[in-house]
Amino acid sequence: MKPPPFRYYDPRTVADAIGLLGRLDNAKLLAGGQSLMPMLNMRYVLPDHVIDLNRVEGLSYIREAGGAIEIGAMTRQRELEFSDLIRAKLPIMHEALLQVGHRQTRNRGTIGGSLCHLDPAAALVTLAAGYEATVVVVGPKGQREIAFKDFPVAYMTPAIEQNEILTAIRFRPWAAGHGYAFVEFSRRHGDFAITSAAALIEADGAGKITRASVTIGGAAVTPVRASEVEKAITGQKPGADLFRQACESCRKVEAIEDIHAPASYRQHLAAVMSRRALEKAQTRIGQSPTATRH
Ligand SMILES: Cc1cc2nc3c(=O)[nH]c(=O)nc-3n(C[C@H](O)[C@H](O)[C@H](O)COP(=O)(O)OP(=O)(O)OC[C@H]3O[C@@H](n4cnc5c(N)ncnc54)[C@H](O)[C@@H]3O)c2cc1C
Repeated sequence: MKPPPFRYYDPRTVADAIGLLGRLDNAKLLAGGQSLMPMLNMRYVLPDHVIDLNRVEGLSYIREAGGAIEIGAMTRQRELEFSDLIRAKLPIMHEALLQVGHRQTRNRGTIGGSLCHLDPAAALVTLAAGYEATVVVVGPKGQREIAFKDFPVAYMTPAIEQNEILTAIRFRPWAAGHGYAFVEFSRRHGDFAITSAAALIEADGAGKITRASVTIGGAAVTPVRASEVEKAITGQKPGADLFRQACESCRKVEAIEDIHAPASYRQHLAAVMSRRALEKAQTRIGQSPTATRH
């Protein structure tokens, strides 16, 4: 399969890329190409112009900024996987990345591309929802920040204008020693999850849960925060019975149906995956992430 004909541009600055987006009709940005190229080859998208972000300066970095971890949009998934800063501050991201495609796809795939593609089953999209991350976009009128809860406007449709570029994303790390786990159910290792769950928990000295985030990916049109679960377990001592009972509420998720699984199966998986994620997260409370083996 071959892509449709298009004109190719490789700007060196964000300003030039935005200028091209403003000037050219029916243009598409290219990041790692791991989703865009198959979509071009299958003729799901038919752009007249492709603007390559790979040579744009200043979009690939991982740094601490104001208590958050800021990641440049063009940072490759493989760089995140090997980053000591990510491992120490956002250990769930390290665990999740090992389940994203294959090392070949992670070598090219970027965090910005994954978030803009906005597949509801994508691990980084699920984590961004779980962390209430902040997305930074730049357009002709300058920079604006979007809370991740407002980022998906519809199925695989981000709240980015046609002439804007996602430049960075900020994650606020949880307290040292928090419990975390990303688990997924997929047909084969490297496939997109049919349903996944990301859990983060903090506990006090008495062992009671003081803060919880549970997000279900792949089940609905966007990742869903399991707020009933979060409420039910906060203030309680973690345990298998508590998690099993609380996660039953995940069966109510408004699930999608496709060739991979019916809605009822995804609802079942939502309950099972969220329970497993919480059980795994519990075992990691108080541990150093670098001591945890994945
Ligand atoms: C075989 C295979 C298996 C995979 N398995 C998984 C998996 O298990 N889990 C998972 O999460 N992902 C998986 N993926 C997807 C992979 O993570 C992709 O890398 C990701 O979805 C897209 O990132 P990219 O950098 O390649 O973006 P591209 O494909 O280049 O772009 C994707 C979309 O985002 C837009 N875009 C890109 N960057 C920007 C930007 N900075 N600003 C605005 N718009 C932008 C593009 O125009 C395009 O519409 C898989 C991919 C393959 C090929």
